[in-house]
Amino acid sequence: MVMKKTHLAAGLLTWILLSSYLKLIDLNALFSSVFASPLPDFDLRIKHRALLHNLFAMLALASLVLYYFGYLNAVFFTLAYFSHILLDSLTKAGVSLLYPFSKKRYGLRLFRNGSLFDKFIFFSFTAMFLLLFIKMFSSVEFTEFLKEFKELLAR
Ligand SMILES: [Zn+2]
Repeated sequence: MVMKKTHLAAGLLTWILLSSYLKLIDLNALFSSVFASPLPDFDLRIKHRALLHNLFAMLALASLVLYYFGYLNAVFFTLAYFSHILLDSLTKAGVSLLYPFSKKRYGLRLFRNGSLFDKFIFFSFTAMFLLLFIKMFSSVEFTEFLKEFKELLAR
């Protein structure tokens, strides 16, 4: 596994990259990304790196999000979820990508959880996120987003 904060940073980064690409800043999409990026680690105490760390679990959960929260949230959810699987696949342990059909673990096995490389990824993702966030400040979409956010707080 990768540090939880690295997964969260990756979730935020996927959110901002996709938002910039779509020219759309949506609060629900942000929640979907932040919720999905650490989610696979809920299998920690059961069958870690298997039960939720595979493409089928991702698609099943994404279908639920699609059904209950719509297309946009499902897209953000899937990307952030996938970022988790992708990051974990870079670590020594790998991930059971095709579980339950195969227990074989796939991955590049480059580094360990909490290692210097993990921290490096965390800091670079956070830095990229912050830079894009600052850039986003000047956009029209961001003004809309702030309005939406203020309305949410006023409720
Ligand atoms: Zn994980």
